[in-house]
Amino acid sequence: MCGIVGYVGKRDCTDVLINGLSKLEYRGYDSAGIAVFNKNQKIEVAKSKGRLQNLVDKMNADGKPMGNAGIGHTRWATHGEPSDVNSHPHSGGRVTIVHNGIIENYKEIKDYLTDKGVSFASDTDTEVAAKLLDYNYNGSPIKTIMDTIRSLEGSYALGIIFADHPNVVYAVRKESPLIVGVGEGESFIASDVPAVLEYTKDYYLLEHEEIAVLDNNGVKIFDSFGRPIQKELKTADWDVEAIGKGGYEHFMLKEIHEQPTAIRNTIKPRIKDGLPNLEECGITPQVLREFRQIFIVACGTAMHAGMMGKYVVEKLAGVPVIVDIASEFRYRDPIVGEGDLVIIISQSGETADSKAAMHLAKEKGAKTLAIVNAMGSSIAREADMLIYTHAGPEIAVASTKAYMVQIAVMYLFAFEMALAVGKIDENECRRLVSLLEKTPDMIENLLEHKETTQYIAATLINADSLLYIGRGLDYALSMEGSLKLKEISYIHSEAYAAGELKHGTISLINEGMPVIAVATQQALFDKTISNIQEVKSRGAKVILVCRDSYQPEQNTADMKFGLPDFDDMLMPMLAVVPLQLIAYYTSVHRGNDVDKPRNLAKSVTVE
Ligand code: GLU
Repeated sequence: MCGIVGYVGKRDCTDVLINGLSKLEYRGYDSAGIAVFNKNQKIEVAKSKGRLQNLVDKMNADGKPMGNAGIGHTRWATHGEPSDVNSHPHSGGRVTIVHNGIIENYKEIKDYLTDKGVSFASDTDTEVAAKLLDYNYNGSPIKTIMDTIRSLEGSYALGIIFADHPNVVYAVRKESPLIVGVGEGESFIASDVPAVLEYTKDYYLLEHEEIAVLDNNGVKIFDSFGRPIQKELKTADWDVEAIGKGGYEHFMLKEIHEQPTAIRNTIKPRIKDGLPNLEECGITPQVLREFRQIFIVACGTAMHAGMMGKYVVEKLAGVPVIVDIASEFRYRDPIVGEGDLVIIISQSGETADSKAAMHLAKEKGAKTLAIVNAMGSSIAREADMLIYTHAGPEIAVASTKAYMVQIAVMYLFAFEMALAVGKIDENECRRLVSLLEKTPDMIENLLEHKETTQYIAATLINADSLLYIGRGLDYALSMEGSLKLKEISYIHSEAYAAGELKHGTISLINEGMPVIAVATQQALFDKTISNIQEVKSRGAKVILVCRDSYQPEQNTADMKFGLPDFDDMLMPMLAVVPLQLIAYYTSVHRGNDVDKPRNLAKSVTVE
């Protein structure tokens, strides 16, 4: 799940690597390290536990490696605690590597090499791969890489340098992502495009077991049999500004503010004559009529977008939807097959569990539809149908704008499906689409009045635990609100279906316990208010997110965030904004590292 960068060119390699890693730090930040060919053509390594800044500080004090080619890494530890010695790069002697992923059979290989007299310094699976490469090394890097990866099980993206091949960087991958950036007289490897965007927009997507060789003559790519191949050069349509903070204190706040643009970019190309049109994504009314049930499979925030999708699709189209956590779906032998549609939602398109769930669904004969943000990612490439969300790069670990566009896509999908199966007519569909089109402006408006969320957050900073409650769509939304708060404020919280509280959880309510109640659904409003009164009368401090037109009585709420009047169905698109901001400001007030919360990484490419 880490970030990998590699460089060959004329620039100061250390600067390029550190700069690139800073764009990938969202992928992991347990440690950082680089290996660079210095002026004497020798490999020089610098690494340090903790954030990238620790490595920079260390190099400022001790001096930095000076050269024009090398590899770098920011880690999200899977094998061995975050420590200096477990930090990448790892060396086998003549071979030095950085690795993203997990070598599943590392123990076997380690035992084998130990028997041969090889010793190990770290607890990582990565060092085992480095030592195996070194053990197999016969003077031909490509041949050695080909031979070695045959013995590796699991997932890997590797940046590799050989001491006797100065200023050449090799790369290979399986499962974990890796791109090869191509500039003028320079080339790069990286786990993700933002790491190289400042230098080039042109890149190759490295496929499974392809080997890239970067030297001063450019890039060569070989297939798994060592035969040179030509690949299509892709061009990133993200610009450099999109990966900067643009004057905001944190990426998360910037990304919350980018939501209106992200929605516009995502829905506009999919609306024709006022109706949804997903033909370009492979989705036609005919195709939609074939499905007897739908599964939505995802992890974390994307799974919450799926929950929202379930409510909307079932309500509008009357087609049953089952939402599954990807890591459960893949191992519970789901009853899925021909005639079913499996929707996989993933920001990165590399989420390991979601990817495996998709493979399983395909094996069982279901059709798959990916809703993905990262262009060219594995899930995007392998699904039968694909809807890209156009959120642009999301850097903050806690997802906001990617979630927003995932739900926007779920709405469009539900509208189109409802029309296809005849549950709504064209007029109703047009009405719903026009409401969806209004949401970006309405969100812009809401963002201009965010002080209330700052104030609400200030009252939460000392809470030990809190509850989010809601019914229907508000319940789906509460789950996301609660996760957002947990992720970045480290305050425990749970989301509960408001009507379910009294069946157990209400016993947690004591004097002053904050409860965030989301009540945007008019049809369920009175029922939610009754549930709110149940917690209020037991001492809860209630923060109500509801229509501004509702004036709560004293026994209902202590604080209120008011939303404009809008259609019930689309209300969550607005109501999510204060929940994101409450989580954001609570984290800021508590002095946390908002964009890089502890123990987390953005793109979860391990099981
Ligand atoms: N499995 C390797 C380790 O624990 C790499 C993890 C990563 O992808 O950062 O060091």
